[in-house]
Amino acid sequence: MGMLTDAHCHPFFMIDNALAEGTGIRLPRDIAVAASGWELCQHEMHEGMARAAAGPGSAPWVLCFGCHPQQPASEGAASCRDTLDALARLAEEGRLSAVGEAGFDLYEERYRATEEAQERVFETQLDIACARGLPMVLHLRRALHKLFPYVHRLKNLPAVIFHSWPGSPDEARAILRRGINAYFALGGAVCGTRKNSRASAALLPADRLLFETDAPYQPLPGKTCSSWDELPAIRDAVAALRREAGSPRGAPQELEAAVAENFFRAYKKGLNRE
Ligand SMILES: [Zn+2]
Repeated sequence: MGMLTDAHCHPFFMIDNALAEGTGIRLPRDIAVAASGWELCQHEMHEGMARAAAGPGSAPWVLCFGCHPQQPASEGAASCRDTLDALARLAEEGRLSAVGEAGFDLYEERYRATEEAQERVFETQLDIACARGLPMVLHLRRALHKLFPYVHRLKNLPAVIFHSWPGSPDEARAILRRGINAYFALGGAVCGTRKNSRASAALLPADRLLFETDAPYQPLPGKTCSSWDELPAIRDAVAALRREAGSPRGAPQELEAAVAENFFRAYKKGLNRE
């Protein structure tokens, strides 16, 4: 069945941006959304939006929560502790579909300076995901190598979603070969010139692809923020790259249906909860 799906976005900040611009956002009832937050107030708003979007025939919402790898540098240790405490409580209360976004960001010096703190925060989150049998949503910038010590534990998770997949198709295949039930989310970068994103869109197995907007944070060229309105452009760009490469699922509607199936498979645990 065709349905647009967004495997990673931040609706709290989409609203925040919209308020600053004096506009609003449309609550999609036809797009399945995986919303990520790192503060309790964000999660509570996502829960409210999920309830408001629910109804007969509506697309489901998936609620993710975790300590962002930039948080040790940008917000400090106390904020990370608050997030981890909230994460443990939300997981215990069954209010979570997935842990994350979590991972490592070694892109800038100020983030690299907190590498050890990022390790501690990641390990706590991996413990919670393993104990609760939840999928994880990963953010990895210049940090793919940081995963290898954790492969044996990541293999036990129901799914691992690589948000804004930064690697090449070969790196994706290496992760799958190690036995991780991995899904690779591609966003607006497929409409640009980033080589790895375009190659992954063209060549990854169709049963491992996801679409994402990371809204509002990854605008298409010429825009100031990303939104759900961009999902058709992302779908069409990935489909065109697959057609060019002669890969399966090169027709937009066919690709959309395959990616929706992947979304429901990757986030199955959270969807069954409701
Ligand atoms: Zn994000």
